[in-house]
Amino acid sequence: MELKICHMYPDVLNLYGDRGNVMCMTQRLNWRGIETTVRKLPIGDSASLAGFDLVFIGGGQDFEQQVLLEDLHRGKDREIRAAIEDGVCFLTICGGYQMLGSYYETYDGQRCDFIGALDLYTVGAKERMIGNYKFRCGPESGGSLVVGFENHSGKTWLGSAVQPLGTVLAGYGNNGEDGTEGARYRNVFGTYSHGPLLPKNPALCDHILLTALTRKYGRAELAPLNDEAENAAHDEMAEKIH
Ligand code: GLN
Repeated sequence: MELKICHMYPDVLNLYGDRGNVMCMTQRLNWRGIETTVRKLPIGDSASLAGFDLVFIGGGQDFEQQVLLEDLHRGKDREIRAAIEDGVCFLTICGGYQMLGSYYETYDGQRCDFIGALDLYTVGAKERMIGNYKFRCGPESGGSLVVGFENHSGKTWLGSAVQPLGTVLAGYGNNGEDGTEGARYRNVFGTYSHGPLLPKNPALCDHILLTALTRKYGRAELAPLNDEAENAAHDEMAEKIH
């Protein structure tokens, strides 16, 4: 088995070491003898998304999101929408997650028209939503308890065509008001949780990998790993966050 990963916009969307999620996915696959290739797709690279099994997009500040708009609307928007409809697995974080929605209006009134791949939009708030947080994934996302870190001004509102990734147990999540966190649509996972997401949440990592492998091979299994250290980090944070 083999998984082809595309890391989109690693040059501009890489807050808090979000690329650690790609390293984590690669390592957990390699430990099981599953080959991976990672192809970076920076601004200006117009390579097609065809043939990728999993696309990762990290987070970025308002400035970076504005910088990449032109590149996005030069064809990557169509590519991403088509890949999503085709069932390609996506993991997108914060700014990268917002980018899949229809728009982001910053607190100072600047509007970024995004790509409308997911039925959601984001509006900036005066108070930033910052801190460690935790949420419980919905059953279709494996149901695990996830510990993470969020830092965003944007409040994201989900439309009826998407499901939340999970329910907030402590912290803000999508908007600090309706208790939802992230979004799920087809094989897309969107979340506000930055860098520590997958290394500290091995159950969610494996759920995402299994989603991508199942789409590619029809059925797939992942051999269990010794997650003692990962689970210890997870459980310690879960206890600390209220
Ligand atoms: N610029 C967006 C916001 O503040 C995304 C931030 C991020 O990716 N951390 O809402």
